Amino acid sequence: MDKMTLEQRHRCMSAIKSKDTKPELMVRKFLFSCGFRFRLNHPRLPGHPDLVLRKYRTVIFVNGCFWHGHEGCKYFVLPKTNTEFWQNKIERNRNRDKRDRLQLAAMGWHCITIWECQLKPKVRQQTLESLAYTLSHVYLEDRRLRTYEPVEETFSVAAEPEESYGKPRSDR
Ligand SMILES: [Zn+2]
Repeated sequence: MDKMTLEQRHRCMSAIKSKDTKPELMVRKFLFSCGFRFRLNHPRLPGHPDLVLRKYRTVIFVNGCFWHGHEGCKYFVLPKTNTEFWQNKIERNRNRDKRDRLQLAAMGWHCITIWECQLKPKVRQQTLESLAYTLSHVYLEDRRLRTYEPVEETFSVAAEPEESYGKPRSDR
């Protein structure tokens, strides 16, 4: 959200109010109207993140509270029948999520998880605004590394995962 014009900011904020939108689509609309550019469902990254923002070295997962077992969330309630089946299933999902995030972090990606409940109308604006804030913060941090720590930079280029999956795309 660096250098945002008034008009951009207006579009960005009005995207928050759009109704009847699926959670993932809501995040996409918001980020797009704020001027963030991303790719969808990168097939070669662990866990197939919903959104990939290369410029920010950040991936975003938009998670359903039930399927991904959102701890302590009122939308995560195990069914009264076949409880054990569901419990095992969701535990597996959780473990997989954890493993994917560790892998992504090791590859140098920032991981952001947005839960479906955080996109309910009452809290949506706060969630999306803090997402935009987090992204610009991540960006500034990375730039600082680049500017002041040339040694670090050499190291992180060597560990850069983008190298391993071919040509950069023109989706910026
Ligand atoms: Zn939740």
